Amino acid sequence: MKGLSKNLEHLTPSATIAISQLAQQKRAAGEDVIDLSAGEPDFETPRIASEAGIRAIQQGKTHYPPNAGLLDLRASAARHFSLLSGGRAVNADCLVVSTGAKQSLFNACFTLFGPGDKVIIPSPYWVSYPHMVRFARAEPVFVPGAVEWSLKIGVEDLEKVKDIRTKGLILCSPTNPTGAVYTRAELTAIVRWAAAHDVWVIADEIYRRIHYGPGPAPSVLDLPDELLASVVMVSGVSKAYAMTGWRIGLALAPPAVAKAMAGMQSHITSGASQPSQWAATAALSDERIEVDVARMVEEFRQRRDLVESQFRHHLPGVEFVDPVGAFYFFFRIDHLFNEDLNSAKQFCDLLLSKEGVALVPGEAFGDKRWVRLSYAAAAKEISRALERMTRFMTGG
Ligand code: PMP
Repeated sequence: MKGLSKNLEHLTPSATIAISQLAQQKRAAGEDVIDLSAGEPDFETPRIASEAGIRAIQQGKTHYPPNAGLLDLRASAARHFSLLSGGRAVNADCLVVSTGAKQSLFNACFTLFGPGDKVIIPSPYWVSYPHMVRFARAEPVFVPGAVEWSLKIGVEDLEKVKDIRTKGLILCSPTNPTGAVYTRAELTAIVRWAAAHDVWVIADEIYRRIHYGPGPAPSVLDLPDELLASVVMVSGVSKAYAMTGWRIGLALAPPAVAKAMAGMQSHITSGASQPSQWAATAALSDERIEVDVARMVEEFRQRRDLVESQFRHHLPGVEFVDPVGAFYFFFRIDHLFNEDLNSAKQFCDLLLSKEGVALVPGEAFGDKRWVRLSYAAAAKEISRALERMTRFMTGG
């Protein structure tokens, strides 16, 4: 029998999904497992959004949506992004609605990159970027971030790897898996460099609202117009609005790119689920929902403080990235390496089997010396997990 397509030759199943499935199995078998591996908020979708989705179903808004997205949603999203970036002009015609930010990112990669192209991915990276680049038959080029700079990259790093085949850069801020956030000055320097070298930037801003500094995290939309001609900004409602299961993502792109992404999508999904689009419209346009967003972000901030202070007190000397956004805590474990333990994967396997705490090994993000803890869980659970981790890591 003939095998699978070359399209999938680099495919490996998602390590993050594998570990949370294992944690769930253990729980189902009655084990006391604390799962801090999940990449989704543990809050309910705000009522206003859910009710808008339910209403859409009851009103029969259940047929094919316009392929690029409902006009109402695109207009609400344009207004929303404009407000977040000091009233800048955002053209709703350049917004494409997709089935989660994941599809928006895939659309962008497939539209912009192809065989022979290289795409720079700062490392550690979100697990799906390399796969998306390879699905487009392009080649990912990993650029490690500097430890003393919260594992972020700068123009000097880009300069070192750039060559004639470099076609794109995927930049995530606030970053999964580290929680680091690029400042406006850093973003400006990177996007300016990309524009000067004719390199596309895909800016993944899905965590923009989950920011512990003032206001939303800096965005490419804060930059001057002339820099945005080669930028695709990706966002959505999954994280800040606790709407992961509704599957609505958004991409803002220059007109020709938006048109191509929508055209491609018309052959793949015919647009995102219509009731979900109505729910997302409510999320992005009903001001009352901002109270829910603020409450969730505040709760994440308290949990972030809890994790950070526990690490400082009980695990002094363990290096970690100072989290300024998203809901992840990325810490280093290679000081524990010995003959029997020499990777984050082994660390996480042992931690799960001995102490019942599920975390994601850094291998999933391109670095086996680090581990990701998601604090999208109740504070009580986080405290219990940290006690167990302290015992495990200090041999106490
Ligand atoms: N980008 C990053 C960095 C993410 O962490 C995630 C979700 N884990 C996504 C994109 C995908 O978001 P969505 O659920 O809207 O597809």
